[in-house]
Amino acid sequence: MSEGELIVVALGGNALLRRGEKGSFEEQYNNVRRTSRFLADLVEMGYKLVITHGNGPQIGATLLRHDAGKRMYDIPPFPMDVCGAETQGFIGYMIQQALRNELKRRGIDKYVITVVTRVIVDEDDPAFQNPSKPVGKFYTKEEMEELKRIHPEYVFKEDKARGGWRRVVPSPDPKIIAERHAIKTLVEAGFIVVASGGGGIPIVEVDGVEARGVEAVIDKDLAGERLAALLGASRFIILTDVDGAYLNYGKPNQKKIGRIKASELRKLYDEGHFPPGSMGPKVLAAIRFIEDGGKEAIIAELSQLKDAIEGRAGTHVVP
Ligand code: ADP
Ligand code: MG
Repeated sequence: MSEGELIVVALGGNALLRRGEKGSFEEQYNNVRRTSRFLADLVEMGYKLVITHGNGPQIGATLLRHDAGKRMYDIPPFPMDVCGAETQGFIGYMIQQALRNELKRRGIDKYVITVVTRVIVDEDDPAFQNPSKPVGKFYTKEEMEELKRIHPEYVFKEDKARGGWRRVVPSPDPKIIAERHAIKTLVEAGFIVVASGGGGIPIVEVDGVEARGVEAVIDKDLAGERLAALLGASRFIILTDVDGAYLNYGKPNQKKIGRIKASELRKLYDEGHFPPGSMGPKVLAAIRFIEDGGKEAIIAELSQLKDAIEGRAGTHVVP
C-alpha cells in the first residue's frame, strides 16, 4: 500500500439493516457497530477512508413518518430531498458514534465526520420523463387513489408479482458532488468522512445559477463512483450481501467473476448479466470508476472487506 492511499467504501443495505429486521434504532445501530469493525480494519491498515451508504429502507420509513404526521397531526410533510437530508444526518450520526468508539478501542486517534451532501444532476436527464425507482411501501388500489388525490403529481406503478402499487420517482444520473472540495479538505486534514449518503441529495442548477432540490433518488453506487473519482481515490469498494458479481447469477452454471478488465466487463454488462436496481448499477459504477482513471474497483461482501482489499475476495475490476 502506498502511504495514505485513499479508499472510498460504499455500504449496501445489509450494513444498516438485515433481513427480517423491522428497522428500530437499536437494530440499525447494532449493525453499524458490526460494520464499523470492518471499516476500522482499513483505518488500522493505514488507509484514508471516505464512506458512503444506501438509505432505501430508511428514507422509505421517513417518508411514511411525514405522511402519518400529516394525517394524524396536520404537520406539513417535507419534500423528498429534505427527507434524504434527514436520513444522511441520522445514518451519519450512527457511523460517527460507532466507528469513533471502535477506533478509540483500538487506540487510533481519528475522528469521523458526516457531510450533508448534495449531488448535481442534469435538469434534462431523461429519467425525469420516466420515473422508475420505487420508494416507500406497497399500497392497495384504494390507498393509491386516495394518495393521488392529495398528491396529483405522484406517479405510481403496479407491482403485479408482489401485489400492490408503489410510488416511483426518477433516478437521474449523478454528475458532480457539490461538496467535493469540503470533503477533500476534511480527508487531507485526517478526518474519516461520511458523504453522499443515499446517493446524495439530488439538486439541479436552474439556468446554471440557483440550485434547488428535486423529488428523485440517485443510485448510491453511481454517486459513490462520482465521489471516488472526483476525490482522486485510488480504489472504490462496493460492499454488499453477495461475494461478488456473477455471470448467470442464480442459475446452476453461475460463475463468480474474480478479476476482470473494465472493457471486458462493459461487454458483459451490455449483454444483460446484471439487472437494474441491484447488481447492474454496481457493475456500471465499477466500470465508470476505471474509465475515470481509478486503479481498482471491488465488489465484495461486507464481512470480507479486509480479504477483498488484499485480493483474496470479491470481484476486482481493473484497467
Ligand atoms: P445493496 O443493498 O448492497 O446495494 P442490492 O440488493 O441492491 O444490494 O444488490 C445486491 C444483490 O444483487 C444480491 O443480493 C443479489 O441477489 C443480486 N444480484 C443480481 N444479479 C446479480 C449478479 N449477476 N451477481 C451477483 N449478485 C446479483
Ligand atoms: Mg439490498
